[in-house]
Amino acid sequence: MSSVLRASEMIAVGADLVVGIDLGGTKIAGAVVDASGTVGTIQSHPTPAAQGSSAVLDAVAALIRDLTTPLRRDGFRQILGIGIGTAGVVDSHRGRIVSATSAMPGWAGTEVAGGLRTRLDSLFHEELPIHVQNDVDAHATGESWVGAAADVKSALVVAVGTGVGGSIVIDGSVLRGSRHVAGEIGHLPTAGVGELVCSCGRPGHLEALGSGPALHRRYLALGGMTGCADAREVVARASQGDSTALRAVEDSASAVGRAAAAVVTVLDPETVVLTGSLALSGRLWWGAMESALRRELIDPLGGIPVIPAMLGNAAAVIGAARGAWDLVEGRRQ
Ligand SMILES: [Zn+2]
Repeated sequence: MSSVLRASEMIAVGADLVVGIDLGGTKIAGAVVDASGTVGTIQSHPTPAAQGSSAVLDAVAALIRDLTTPLRRDGFRQILGIGIGTAGVVDSHRGRIVSATSAMPGWAGTEVAGGLRTRLDSLFHEELPIHVQNDVDAHATGESWVGAAADVKSALVVAVGTGVGGSIVIDGSVLRGSRHVAGEIGHLPTAGVGELVCSCGRPGHLEALGSGPALHRRYLALGGMTGCADAREVVARASQGDSTALRAVEDSASAVGRAAAAVVTVLDPETVVLTGSLALSGRLWWGAMESALRRELIDPLGGIPVIPAMLGNAAAVIGAARGAWDLVEGRRQ
């Protein structure tokens, strides 16, 4: 696991640094990260998502200013690049959002790299490399660099929380796909989901049953207590023996397991890493997910490790920074 140092300690040793930013629908988190993956103190701002993309970019730029203010005396010479992991389907080559959900109104089409460059030009002397990628890809990149998948060549990373996302890492690099969508396991047609409608509007996709809100809806649809607030409470009720909650957890987690098994069967990655608040909610969810996954796999795949992520909320910040380092190192060559 990456050790967490205060930014000031890293500054003291004069390390080259990049800024890593994890940009989600509710929160923007960021830190400076050195070339070994050591991350400074993570700071965060709320995401002004409802105010549109320009306000969101203003908030990201403000956080980058906050994070780099201690480096001002040195003329920001230590800051070599900026990496962003953001919600939405991302064209990493152009630094542009291809599509986004209603959680980020107006985010689709946003020129993230260009918009940040305009906002930060007066701060940094030269044109810094700015790398932009999907936030689940950033998570996976972080785990693959210095986290749970650091010692393997390939991994399927699945994030299960308010949505269901996925990412495929091969030889340390995320598979982006020809249309920037590779790894989007949430939109995989999955047995057991039936006619439930996904966030994309189509029936039968994993996210319609596998996400936290979907688990909560499943519990209510099965006749669970109407006062139950959210997926976290459903999981808590299940662990206390509420049979309806247990069934909802089983239905939702096993859908994730079946979909992950499909991807494992196609790609044969070395390991599977699960992350996100629901995936890491405890033994009940995990057990249902893993047994459904293993039930689907043919014998040669039977021994595949299925492991929890290690870096928590720092993963996307670290992975976003890795994207920046890739650009920086590419420019050095
Ligand atoms: Zn979908």
